[in-house]
This record gives sequence, structure tokens and C-alpha cells, in this order.
Amino acid sequence: MSQKLAAVKGMNDLLPEEIGIWQHVEAAAREIFSRYGYAEVRTPVLEDTSLFERSVGEATDIVGKEMYTFHDKAGRSVSLRPEGTAPAVRAYVEHAVAQKEPLTRWYYIGPMFRYERMKTGRYRQFHQIGVEAFGAKEPAQDVEVMEMVVHFLNALELSGVALHLNSLGDEACRPEHQKRLVAYLSAHREELCPDCQTRLERNPLRVLDCKNESCRAIAQGAPKVQDSLCEACRQHLAEVRRRLDLLGVRYELDPSMVRGLDYYTRTAFEFVADDPALGTASAVGGGGRYDRLVRELGGPDVPAVGVALGLDRICLLLGAAGKRFGVRPDLFVAFVDVQAQDEAMRLSSALRRAGLRVELDTRGGSLKSQMKRADKSGARFALVLGEKELADRAGELRPMAGGEPRRVAFSELSAVLRRA
Ligand code: AMP
Repeated sequence: MSQKLAAVKGMNDLLPEEIGIWQHVEAAAREIFSRYGYAEVRTPVLEDTSLFERSVGEATDIVGKEMYTFHDKAGRSVSLRPEGTAPAVRAYVEHAVAQKEPLTRWYYIGPMFRYERMKTGRYRQFHQIGVEAFGAKEPAQDVEVMEMVVHFLNALELSGVALHLNSLGDEACRPEHQKRLVAYLSAHREELCPDCQTRLERNPLRVLDCKNESCRAIAQGAPKVQDSLCEACRQHLAEVRRRLDLLGVRYELDPSMVRGLDYYTRTAFEFVADDPALGTASAVGGGGRYDRLVRELGGPDVPAVGVALGLDRICLLLGAAGKRFGVRPDLFVAFVDVQAQDEAMRLSSALRRAGLRVELDTRGGSLKSQMKRADKSGARFALVLGEKELADRAGELRPMAGGEPRRVAFSELSAVLRRA
């Protein structure tokens, strides 16, 4: 007996009844991001494994535990991308974009892959909408990215998403903070979970975003990065805050938010939803500044800031809010016999060329079954073609939601449907 085929665990099919929301969100991103001068970039889903080891960081969960890594037929180690920033930076460096323009604004939309423990809002193939701005070290650039995301979420009418802001310091002040943090965490070593005991050696900042209860309690009392910021980082944060205020963008300072990737410097932020639809997967997006990454990946010394939003989670939120998106036909054309079908197909084709959405049942069948299908299609109007309609070159245009049918000449159909 053959085994039943099913999608790979953690990877979802998106069927047409859901796709309306996805297309709506993607269209909103394209429209709004383009208003700010961001252009789309598409990079491959597979990259050399070393790209992620060198950028996201070997000591992170993403690279250490969650990547889909395998050898291709030539024996190269490749990985399905677990995030979009490293590939974008790789493309930016590879195509020497910095030499062509001093300020580059990109966005991307696409699938990412992480072998994670699954739950509501957390999958192994998920989708991100991300933004990267290369070339500006100024706080204004951080603010542009955050304000653009707020604009995007507002356009989707997603309220209840809070912006959490933090500064992670830079190479001047982070080592000092790290030292104080390690001293504090070492004193509580025995109370940390086994994972955090390893993190303490390899990547102490990560202990602060462990979900384990006892680690969280210890994280609460940890030295705050704000208290160790150097003057330049302090000023950067103050300017980000001033400009956010200026634009009326509300945020909360969140000293415990450290993000799960290694490459951030200074500004880090997260968008967090307070909605049961997401269960405990409440982060809708996150980002920050990564001023060293372009150089570390072999490029010039170019500062950058970016954000990645979880498309699956945004669609879950919109679905839970009862939002429905999708296209419905303007007209359903039914027909009584083969001659009428010839005319139905000719007329439908002409109307589609005029920009209208028109459906018919190519299988023919009884009028009753065709009208059932018309109902199901959600069409706004139906038109039935028979001998009389063919002779008159006119028919009864029937509103599917109820109301009086009206007689319309075929030649007038396009104009009438457009106005209806
Ligand atoms: P990160 O850079 O890991 O913070 O990811 C940015 C955003 O992508 C998160 O805030 C989530 O909305 C989304 N995301 C990350 N991992 C997953 C996942 N496994 N499943 C669904 N969405 C995810």
C-alpha cells in the first residue's frame, strides 16, 4: 500500500480561500514601501551555509539548531535561508551596490526556513516581509524604517501592535556591558537552564531572551544595557526617540529586548501584538541597526538598518479580526445549449478583455446546477443565455444579492456592469 502523501511538517499550503489576505498584505507592503523609495529585491532561498554562520552567528539558536543544512551534489554545504538580512547583504556586497549609490533602500517578501518547535504562529516554512536600508548611520534612518512599518500596520487596520525599543550599544560600550552581565549571570549560574549555561559561555546576551521561567526571573535583575551605553550610543538613542515623538510614533523602552541574532548594534526594536490569535508567538516583527555586518561580509564600511515582519502572523491577525479579502466575479454567464454556450464564451471573452471578471461553467449541465455554481462563485450578477437572448442580442441581468433584473443589450453590458 502506498503511503499517504502530506506536506512536510511545519510547512503550510495556502489555499485560495486564504490567499486573498496574503495578497492584500503583500500589495499593501509594495504600495507603502514604494512611497518611501524602497525597491524590491529577490534573492535565492539557498545560500552557502557559511553566510549565516558569519552573520546571524554560530552561537545563535537559528544557526546552531534550526537551519535546514545539507550538502549539494558537489559536496558544498548549503542552507535554506532562515532569515532575509544576510542574503540581502550578500547581494548588496556581491553587486557592489555601494559604489553605484550612497543610499540604498530595499525590501523583500518570501519564505524563510527554521526547524523550530511548532505552535500557533510558528512554522518551519514561514514568510517574511523585510526592509533593509544601507548607507545612513543617522538615527533618522532608524526612525524612517520604524515609522514606515507603523504606517503599513495602520494601513492594514491592525491596532494593538506595540513598538518596543532598545539600544544594544556598539563595539565601544558593549564589551563593558557584557562583562557586567557575565559577572551577574555567573553568580546565578546554577539557577539557569542548561541551554543558558551554555549561552553564558558562548553568547551571554541571549540569556536575556530565554523563555524559561527561572531564566526570565534572573534576566529581570540583570544589569541594563542602557546603564552602560557610551555617549555616542546614548545620543543616538535620544535622537531616535526625539524623532519618533516628532512623528507621533508611540513606543515603549524595553531594556530586556535583545533580539535573537548577533549582528545588531545600537537600535533594536520589535513589534509585539497583544492578541490571543497568536498564542505566545506575539512578535509580529523585529529589526534594528547592523552597522558592522556589510564590512564583516567582505563589503565596504556601510552602516545599515532593517526590519523583518512575519507575514504568516500578520495574516493570522487579520483573519482573526474577521477581515475577508478576495476577488469576486462581476458576472456569471449561464447558457441553455451548445449554441448559447458559443455566445456565452464569445461574450465572456469580450467582457474580460474590457477588464471585467466573468465566469462560466465550462462543463455546461443543467441551468439549475449552473446557477448553483453562480451562487458559490460570489458573482455580483448573473446572465442566462437561451434562444431568445441570442436572437435579441440582449438578456436579463440579475443581481445575485436579490432585486429586480434589468434588460441589457449585449453591447451595453460592459458599461452597465462597470457602473453597477
Ligand atoms: P526574527 O528576526 O527571528 O525576530 O523574525 C522576525 C519576525 O518573523 C518575527 O517577529 C515573527 O513575526 C516572524 N517569525 C520568525 N520566526 C517565525 C516562525 N518560525 N514562524 C512564523 N513566523 C516567524
